[in-house]
Amino acid sequence: MDSEQQRLLRSLPAVDEVLQAEPVKGLLAEAPRGLVVEAVREVLEEYRASIRQDRYPDPVTREEVAVSAAKRVRAFLRPHLRRVINATGVVLHTNLGRAVLSRKAREAVQVAAAGYTNLELDLATGERGSRYHHVNRLLTRLSGAEDALVVNNNAAAVLLALSTLARGREVIVSRGQLVEIGGSFRVPEVMAQGGAHLVEVGTTNKTYLRDYQAAITPETALLLKVHTSNYRVVGFTRETSLEELVALGRAREIPVMEDLGSGFLVDLTPWGITGEPTVRDSVAKGADVVTFSGDKLLGGPQAGIILGRADLIRKMKAHPLTRALRVDKLTLAALEATLRDYLDLPGARERIPTLRMLTAQVEELQPRAEELLALLEQQLTGRGALELTAGYSEAGGGSLPTTRIPTMLVTIFPRGVTADALVARLREQEPAVMARIQDDRVVLDVRTVLPEEIPLLAGAVTACLT
Ligand SMILES: *Cc1c(COP(=O)(O)O)cnc(C)c1O
Repeated sequence: MDSEQQRLLRSLPAVDEVLQAEPVKGLLAEAPRGLVVEAVREVLEEYRASIRQDRYPDPVTREEVAVSAAKRVRAFLRPHLRRVINATGVVLHTNLGRAVLSRKAREAVQVAAAGYTNLELDLATGERGSRYHHVNRLLTRLSGAEDALVVNNNAAAVLLALSTLARGREVIVSRGQLVEIGGSFRVPEVMAQGGAHLVEVGTTNKTYLRDYQAAITPETALLLKVHTSNYRVVGFTRETSLEELVALGRAREIPVMEDLGSGFLVDLTPWGITGEPTVRDSVAKGADVVTFSGDKLLGGPQAGIILGRADLIRKMKAHPLTRALRVDKLTLAALEATLRDYLDLPGARERIPTLRMLTAQVEELQPRAEELLALLEQQLTGRGALELTAGYSEAGGGSLPTTRIPTMLVTIFPRGVTADALVARLREQEPAVMARIQDDRVVLDVRTVLPEEIPLLAGAVTACLT
């Protein structure tokens, strides 16, 4: 180390000196002292490392160190899981936490979080109760199934069902249904984790009943149908229907399971949402086990719902994995309230944000888009051109892959900044904003923006262009 480096190292302020500097002194009133001291040490250590590598020719002042340290502490103190305004038009955006919960579900979470609950207590007898009891009656009533079980997510539901019903034995699946959901959920891999042997039948585009028939051996434990919820095989195709599989399963005494993935409880065909089977349908057609997500089309909290024959569900409940995959009181509170929202079906569409967003018609979205446009026109004054256009939203979350839902878009042609830079700035706002880029323009889809968020969204865009 040369003498110049030694001089610079010696010129660095001491930790105590930095703590006296204004930017840090103010911070000590709101942040734990240990955190601030640690940040100052870190910043000083980084300066030392730069000096040793000859990357820092000028002496630094205690103010400079204090400013860096304060910035670090503030960044750490800010919640990491933050609110986001979803202007992408993707209703079940997995990266944005999928379903927005209904008012009743939010209130139920609040109550369960704030005090004790009868999570595993039978209030009538004072005896120990089951946490699954709170939603069983609702699930069986809404689906027509004999019994139900709720676990952490649908991936867990499939894993538990396979581990319980098919460990060490064979499961027959069509080649056209070897789905990858993303985040490493692939049917063949979950099958391997569950200890079941995958027997693929048919081809990518065509699988006949006779393919399943020919594959049955004394080792066959399950016939599995996986709903291709995030893609569609179209054209020259043939899928064996659930009814056909159920008839085969009954004749050979092999249970049939359907992994629905997204799982609708209501039929939204009148609102133009078609091609998605309902949970009730699968149960009515005789599937012995049906699994689906709580936070996809159901519009509830993250959960995996297993419905089916009482004897099979009983076996799953007794499996040691169930304990590892169990849901907590907040999930159960939100799920129970969401299911109660479904008891009166016509009203469910109004109460459950996911359903309301999926079914909102252009006439309903137009005023919201116009309100946003008017606010932006007022505030932006020349910093970008604006346009109201028709476009399409998506269901997302691996649901309804081919459904394009007509929507209204507010398009921004930014001035003096690229579309990429503008969306990056929008993500840094509080609340953060997620927008779409289309042909070098920034597009805001109001379908997924809650009406009360419109002024906030306009404010965020304005802040980014000022
Ligand atoms: C989404 C999906 C899953 C996984 O569900 P998570 O609740 O996200 O764990 C499994 N199977 C299918 C068919 C799906 O669509």
